Amino acid sequence: MAMKSKVLIVGGTGYLGKRLVKASLAQGHQTYVLQRKEVGVDIEKVQLLLWFKQLGAHLVTGSFNDHQSLVNAVKLVDVVICAISGVHIRTHQILLQLKLVDAIKEAGNIKRFLPSEFGTDPARMENAMEPGRVTFDDKMVVRRAIEEAGIPFTYISANCFAGYFLGGLCQPGFILPSRDHVRLHGDGNQKAIYVDEDDIATYSIKTIDDPRTLNKTVYIRPAENILSQREVVQIWEKLIGKELLKSSISEQEFLAIMKEQDYAEQVGLTHYYHVCYEGCLANFEIGDEVEETSILYPEIKYTTVEEYMKRYL
Ligand code: NDP
Repeated sequence: MAMKSKVLIVGGTGYLGKRLVKASLAQGHQTYVLQRKEVGVDIEKVQLLLWFKQLGAHLVTGSFNDHQSLVNAVKLVDVVICAISGVHIRTHQILLQLKLVDAIKEAGNIKRFLPSEFGTDPARMENAMEPGRVTFDDKMVVRRAIEEAGIPFTYISANCFAGYFLGGLCQPGFILPSRDHVRLHGDGNQKAIYVDEDDIATYSIKTIDDPRTLNKTVYIRPAENILSQREVVQIWEKLIGKELLKSSISEQEFLAIMKEQDYAEQVGLTHYYHVCYEGCLANFEIGDEVEETSILYPEIKYTTVEEYMKRYL
């Protein structure tokens, strides 16, 4: 059997990053985690890094401000996965990856790089609205740098992180589901795609040694999780045994409210607009140029929306 690639996870203490570390170890890869010098006395991060070490990961010190440290870290492995932040209400550091691209180019040994994507495919968002398009534009800048440097890649399009979308019954600003009331986006019938964050990590790790995903975009589209907001609400109502009061927010109202928010909020709301009013995740067929995880890895039993939502009971 072919040796499993050695993997470096950058952004390993993050919301998705920690799941990538666990999935990489679970799938038997020698796993390295970048321990940034800037983490300093952030006790939560330090404890998490130590826990990764207990699980069998290797910690590698480095910094985005120290090019040679990145080159040295990259030279230890075959595959680099970056899960650096890219959510404005938290922090948005997508372009910092250009430094990582430079390091990977110089190191010259990397067989696969997965940049921090894990959302809507930015290549489909060239007509996205301001200001939220910055997320897609920045991710495309990183893609161009990767491709110009000739670095082998896989781009993961993971659709909606379940915690952000299912947790709030698809309402921005909520991450716990109400037992009383829900505001539907328009008629609430646009379909979106929800993916358990641990499943995103599992699928991402599966791609790294897979020749079918080399230099490809991979979509995570679990068939049972392609649902409208109304259908998500119905699943929740079934779980709690109660019907919620429903109101609706029109597209115009949504956009008017969005304009009153600060920049970071507006970025997030733009994304909700494209997903919930335009149906940008599910309103197209996947073409031949991209791969889809349920076809690539039918053996993986993904978490359904109903299973995910049981945690909120
Ligand atoms: P986090 O906000 O959890 O941050 C991830 C990591 O980024 C941090 O743990 C830290 O890594 C690193 N980081 C943060 N600031 C800096 C900095 N100034 N310099 C260097 N490193 C820094 O990220 P998420 O897990 O939320 O996001 C990961 C990806 O997933 C992004 O591309 C994002 O756009 C996408 N995403 C998609 C969603 C969806 O619904 N599809 C929802 C949320 C995110 P460390 O300290 O460990 O080095």
